[in-house]
Amino acid sequence: KNISKYYPAGFGKTYVLRNINLEIKEGEFVSIMGPSGSGKSTLLHILGLLEEASEGEYLLDGISVQKLSEKKRTELHRTSIGFVFQAYHLIDELTVYENIETPLLYKGQSSAERKSRVADVLDRFNIVAKKDLFPSQLSGGQQQLVGIARAIVAEPKIIFADEPTGNLHSEHAQQIMELFKELNQKDGVTIVQVTHSEANAEYGNRIIRLKDGWIA
Ligand code: ATP
Ligand code: MG
Repeated sequence: KNISKYYPAGFGKTYVLRNINLEIKEGEFVSIMGPSGSGKSTLLHILGLLEEASEGEYLLDGISVQKLSEKKRTELHRTSIGFVFQAYHLIDELTVYENIETPLLYKGQSSAERKSRVADVLDRFNIVAKKDLFPSQLSGGQQQLVGIARAIVAEPKIIFADEPTGNLHSEHAQQIMELFKELNQKDGVTIVQVTHSEANAEYGNRIIRLKDGWIA
């Protein structure tokens, strides 16, 4: 409700989001589109509990997010959200295997559960051969796949994905969109993706267009 985000600029403020009013229902598959700099990543970071709005109210599953402590917000992010970053954000010091395992550790799964779940996901993404490599040893597209694998491994109720297929060739991109569609339709996972591709946006049930920080 009335979400705005600004940064200080000189004696004033630069607004990057202005009065965003938006309701996303459980089980929706929403695409956010708009020109570069229109505020798509900023909005997704606020929705994914990675950044705070400057003004307005954000209710996630009925919880008023701005009333939570930072610790609670981080906990909620880790336990119920899968987030695919535009710039991957893998942990450089961890291998592919360990990066994907991280959300399962946060979830408190046993070592046997983690092993079998990570193996499933590695297999599904066809990256078994890369499991012991570090992010710096992967191509951009491979890092993107690892980022998506990490976002879905713990079976979150909501996935926020910031241009998840921006660095993948079209065949891979289509596979990821099919996977999101399946998670959405079979498992009822709510999906919010940022995309520049009309073809990707077609996988969802609604498109939200941002322009200069407004919903156009
Ligand atoms: P792209 O399609 O290029 O990824 P975007 O729509 O995701 O663009 P954002 O990353 O949300 O755009 O950025 C929106 C605006 O917010 C930009 O003008 C950017 O410069 C500004 N912005 C983002 N972070 C900061 C910051 N920390 N300080 C000042 N301005 C910022
Ligand atoms: Mg962006």
